[in-house]
Amino acid sequence: MKEFNLTSEENLIESILIVDDQPANLRVLSKMLEGRNYKVKKASDGESAIMAAQSQPPDLILLDILMPNMDGYEVCKIIKSDDKTKDIPVIFISALSDVFDKIKAFEIGGIDYVTKPFQEEEVLARITSQLTIQTQRKLLAKERELLEKEHQLLRKEIRQRKEAEAILYQSRALISSILNASLDGIAALEAVRDTKTGKIIDFRCIVVNPVTAQIFNSQPEDLTGKLIFKKFINKIKPELFTAFIQVVETGKSLEQDIKYNHKNEQKWFHYIAVKLGDGFSVTVRDITVRKKLELKLSKLATIDGLTGVYNRHYFNNILTQEWERNCREKQYLSLILCDVDYFKPYNDFYGHQKGDSCLIAVAKTMNNVVKRSSDILARYGGEEFAVILPNTPKEGAIKIAENLREEIEKLNIPHAKSNISEYVTISLGVASIIPDCESSIESLIRIADNALYFAKENGRNQVKFYNHEELEIRNKND
Ligand SMILES: [Mg+2]
Repeated sequence: MKEFNLTSEENLIESILIVDDQPANLRVLSKMLEGRNYKVKKASDGESAIMAAQSQPPDLILLDILMPNMDGYEVCKIIKSDDKTKDIPVIFISALSDVFDKIKAFEIGGIDYVTKPFQEEEVLARITSQLTIQTQRKLLAKERELLEKEHQLLRKEIRQRKEAEAILYQSRALISSILNASLDGIAALEAVRDTKTGKIIDFRCIVVNPVTAQIFNSQPEDLTGKLIFKKFINKIKPELFTAFIQVVETGKSLEQDIKYNHKNEQKWFHYIAVKLGDGFSVTVRDITVRKKLELKLSKLATIDGLTGVYNRHYFNNILTQEWERNCREKQYLSLILCDVDYFKPYNDFYGHQKGDSCLIAVAKTMNNVVKRSSDILARYGGEEFAVILPNTPKEGAIKIAENLREEIEKLNIPHAKSNISEYVTISLGVASIIPDCESSIESLIRIADNALYFAKENGRNQVKFYNHEELEIRNKND
């Protein structure tokens, strides 16, 4: 900042204005100075000296004191009273014989004086010394100017910084009010890495809002800066920790529902984790109410309203699923179809209300027999029930069907209109198949249905079994 551009020609050649009413003096001085490479201007009276100084201010003025009309003192006064010329150093010229008032000369702004006849070395030394002082002064002025500019820039920078701080403060206040008022949990976490391997070993909470803290049963200040994330996540679902590391490493966000036991209550949360620096931010929403409602609705949609066992719609879905799974695993899939014997006469005789009670009792009893969680009991039609038995070959399926028949018979529900018993009984058809690409779900149902038909034809209250081959043989014999 302290380098000045003094290399221009204007600055290199210093100009001197010589003022003297005697042409001989002008000649001597100008010859002396031009010989030293100064740019010289001459004036032979006060008025033209002032005009010359004002039109093109020189670096120095050599000013004769005794001149007609306007003397040197007067010229100096005017030069020193004009802003444009006041800084030009003035050296007075006086003859040895002149009555020269040195005090007056210095008072009105003269800086030095030389005497005639001129001692060349002395004149040059005085001029050089004044010009050097002048140059130094100009440099100082320029330096001051630059400093002032720099101060201005600094002041501007300070002002801008203060403005930025105010904006920052406002946005912090805004963020904090959003975080505090949010109904969702919001948190920001940064990765904590192993110093040797660089692998993420945990996450540190940077920002935690009150709703998030509540999920942790704490206050935000208890969590901020703490390394508790891994411990907490491992309690809920350990594989989630790896999933969050993936968010940081790949930049792909993660969004899912999560089930969490909160203060002995089953809770569901929906969360979105998004990469943020070397960490992630996460938004968590409590969706327990919605989830419970959904579960209730989806359960309602799968249950038969009268008997409480699964409905036909659910039966179809599960049968398709199990068909595909048993096909992949090459395992037997068995199906039992069953009918309450002479149910129409029962309904006609006892009335629909009793009919409904009978179906409820039958379903309840059958449900007690079908115990494996993978087995599905469904109401297939009016008085028809179906049981899906995955991974179950013929023998197991027949055993369960026989159990069902026995347990219903044991209920001893009076049936005045049955042609085969005093009590309510059921007929059952069983089919077993290892599903493959050539067979279809319909074929399994058809085989079970045929077996059921055969059980009824054969006297009811009994179990009949077909597998694929047996049905084909029977069909041929018929
Ligand atoms: Mg004179």
